[in-house]
Amino acid sequence: MIKFLDLQAINSQYQQELKDACSRVIDSGWYIMGGELEAFETEFAEYCGVKHAIGVANGLDALILVIRAWKELGKLKSGDEVIVPANTYIASVLAITENNLIPVFVEPNPTTYNLCPENVRAAITDKTKAILPVHLYGLISPMQELMDLAKEHDLLVLEDCAQAHGANIEGKKAGNWGDAAGFSFYPGKNLGALGDAGAITTNDNELAQTVKALRNYGSHKKYENLYQGINSRLDEIQAAMLRVKLGYLDQETARRREIANIYCNGITNPLIQLPKWDNDENHVFHLFVIQTTQRDKLQKHFENNGVQTVIHYPIAPHKQEAYKDFNNLKLEVTETIHNQVLSLPISPTMSNDDVDKVVTITNRYLK
Ligand SMILES: *Cc1c(COP(=O)(O)O)cnc(C)c1O
Repeated sequence: MIKFLDLQAINSQYQQELKDACSRVIDSGWYIMGGELEAFETEFAEYCGVKHAIGVANGLDALILVIRAWKELGKLKSGDEVIVPANTYIASVLAITENNLIPVFVEPNPTTYNLCPENVRAAITDKTKAILPVHLYGLISPMQELMDLAKEHDLLVLEDCAQAHGANIEGKKAGNWGDAAGFSFYPGKNLGALGDAGAITTNDNELAQTVKALRNYGSHKKYENLYQGINSRLDEIQAAMLRVKLGYLDQETARRREIANIYCNGITNPLIQLPKWDNDENHVFHLFVIQTTQRDKLQKHFENNGVQTVIHYPIAPHKQEAYKDFNNLKLEVTETIHNQVLSLPISPTMSNDDVDKVVTITNRYLK
C-alpha cells in the first residue's frame, strides 16, 4: 500500500531532535508564551522575509484574527465584501463570515486553480474592501498583478498561505506579498507541527501589535485589555517542534518538487491533466493534483492497485449546507474542478520506487 501521506515516516526522520526539543520545554517549566515561541516567531519571520510573524493556535484563527484586527483598526467593517476564490478550502471563507463580512466567490483560473486578476477585477464593487488569495495546493497566486489591482482600488490583501510555505515569485515568498498572511502548521501541511498551530505574517507594525493583543484576550499588557480578544496562542511544545521542522522545510520542499517532476515527466495518460508548473520556485507541491473527467473511476483504479489518493475538495464552499444562502450560485469552473480533481501521494519520504509505481499505475488506466 502506498500511503497518501505518511506523517509517521516524516516525523521519525527527526525523532531525536524532536524529543530533545520536547524535553527542553518540559524541563523549562514554562509552557505558554515563552522563549520557544519568541524564537520560532523570529525564525519564521526571517524565513518568510517579513518583519513580523505572530504565532496563533491554528491556521483558521490566523485568518480570522487578521480580519478582526483590521476591524478593530477601522480598516474593515461588518458587511464589507471580501473577494475569495470559490474553489478554496472552507477555512478561507469561514474567516470572512466569522467576522460578519461577505464572501464574494470568484471563479479561479482553471489551469492554476488560483485567483486570476481578470475575474477579480470584474467582481470589484463599491463594497469590496479586501482580496483573499489562496495559494492553493502550494502554487503561489499571481501576486504582483493582484497587488497592483488592490492598490488601484484601495483594497487590503490577506494571503491564505496554509498550503504554500516557502513558495515564492523571484525570491519573494508567500506571506510577504499581501498586507498580511495566515499560515497553518496543521500536521499534514508542508511545515507541520505535532498538533494544531498557525501564524500570521505582516510587515505592518500596528497590525502586528493588534493581533498580538487579540490572540491573548485582547491584552497588550498583563490584566489590561484593549479589545474583547480570544485565546489563540501557539504553545511552547508546538513552537519547539516547529523550530526543528523549519530547519528541514527547504529540503522537504526540494524532495516534493523532485517527486512532482517525476510525475510530470512520467505521466503520459491522455485522460489526465497535470498541474501547471513552469517555474521551480513558485510551487511547493503541498498537493499533486491531477484532473480527469473520470475521477471516481480513476480513484477506484488507484485503490485496486494499492495507491491511496484523496479529493481536495469534494464539495465547494458555496455548495455546503453551512452556506445555504450561496447554494444557488452557479460557478461552473469551480464545480467542474470539485468534480474532477484527484490528489496523488506526494510525501517527501516516498521512495523513487513508489513514485515510479504510481506513474505506471496512472498510465495503465484506460477508459
Ligand atoms: C489547512 C488550511 C486552513 C486552515 O488551517 P488549520 O490550521 O487547519 O485551521 C486554511 N486554509 C487553507 C487553504 C488550508 O489548507
